[in-house]
Amino acid sequence: MPPHKNLRRLAVLGSTGSIGCATLDVVRHAGDRMQIVALSAHTNTSLLAEQVREFQPEIVVVTGFRLQTPDFRFQTFGTETRSPKPEVFHDSDALCEIVTRDDIDVVVSAIVGSAGLQSTLSAVEAGKTVALANKESLVAGGELVTEATKKSGGKIIPIDSEHSAIWQCLEREWRVARGKGRELRNSQASPSQTLAPGPSSLTPTIILTASGGPFRDLSRQELERVTVADALAHPTWSMGKKITVDSATLMNKALEIIEARWLFDMPPEKIRVVLHPQSVVHSMVEFVDGAVMAQLSPPDMRLPIQWAIDYPNRFPCPARRIDWETMMTLEFFPPDFERFPALQLGMEVAAQGGTAGAVINAANEVAVEAFLQEKLPLYQITTVCQSILHHHNHERRPTFTQLMAADRWARSETQKWISR
Ligand code: NAD
Ligand code: MG
Repeated sequence: MPPHKNLRRLAVLGSTGSIGCATLDVVRHAGDRMQIVALSAHTNTSLLAEQVREFQPEIVVVTGFRLQTPDFRFQTFGTETRSPKPEVFHDSDALCEIVTRDDIDVVVSAIVGSAGLQSTLSAVEAGKTVALANKESLVAGGELVTEATKKSGGKIIPIDSEHSAIWQCLEREWRVARGKGRELRNSQASPSQTLAPGPSSLTPTIILTASGGPFRDLSRQELERVTVADALAHPTWSMGKKITVDSATLMNKALEIIEARWLFDMPPEKIRVVLHPQSVVHSMVEFVDGAVMAQLSPPDMRLPIQWAIDYPNRFPCPARRIDWETMMTLEFFPPDFERFPALQLGMEVAAQGGTAGAVINAANEVAVEAFLQEKLPLYQITTVCQSILHHHNHERRPTFTQLMAADRWARSETQKWISR
């Protein structure tokens, strides 16, 4: 049988996580339109083994510890000898190598934290299409990653639901602005190449929606008493622990402001946030004439994941759909910058660029981990990030090595702050 004409051969980095599993469900429903070439996981080898049995990838990468290859095969297939597949690699350098392979069309970047930066960068440098869930790579290395994308002709298609919505709202505008009509659908240019440069007075405004997390209505005093279990109970989304805590502090929205700044080449003053508890409107774009476009769907990541992989095509999707027979109320509120100071921090970092993103991201990763280990109260996550950001020596156009140094510095300073 000839291959599907829209076949996407995938590497799924972080396949055992929340986004990784949702991606594999999309693949499960896509039939011969999608094929898994590579999977990676950090430590959850039992789930990885199940995924290997089901999807039969050529390559598997385990980054968290070293397994003897025969043991892994044994665990995976129940026999040491049955099949030479998959080839097993063991460190994060292997991730950077496998994403450049000719037999991979789309790299799904779904590792959590700045651990996903290097493989994302390698993929775009190799001119690949990256379906990007790992927002931290744009937060920490936005300029480097988008420059590399432009240079290689690669593409970054967002999986983050807000950015996916914004992309969908802007697509027609890009076509009109560039006068390319249907051409854009085939050109698959990267966002930074396609966003209408035009005069800033004509630049649309991006409106990021935020559920507000579980503590949307708590007072400052009440926020001081929340527990890890409270923070992990997100009202609308089921996600990995780190992003769930980020949603509770609204640091997730701060990271998304920075992500949008790089992905859409937007000045921060053109990015706004509104609270929308139902998580049905995934984000909006307001054009200069006042028209607002939005993308709506129930909170289910399988839709933006499939859209990023299949772009620019649309196919039926396993994600839940809006039930138009049921009454639905959609609410919008302005956010309270005082109770959630992370938002202001996001704006500040988006304006600064340079090493600021790597610093706030690293400080936040360490602080979230400390909160999960009950060594830091939730409300102090933003406080420590603010403090570390304001003490760092800002470098405006950092190299990769300088970004990594800023990341290490911020991690060590945040540890010291927490121990004090
Ligand atoms: P998760 O914790 O559920 O999964 C993380 C995955 O990364 C796992 O497969 C794990 O094995 C791997 N991993 C962890 N540490 C690693 C390391 N040091 N090196 C290599 N691999 C490592 O996280 P998630 O919720 O799936 O989120 C993944 C990314 O997607 C994050 O950047 C998050 O912000 C973003 N995102 C998630 C959602 C969501 O609904 N979960 C929505 C939007 C964006
Ligand atoms: Mg999001």
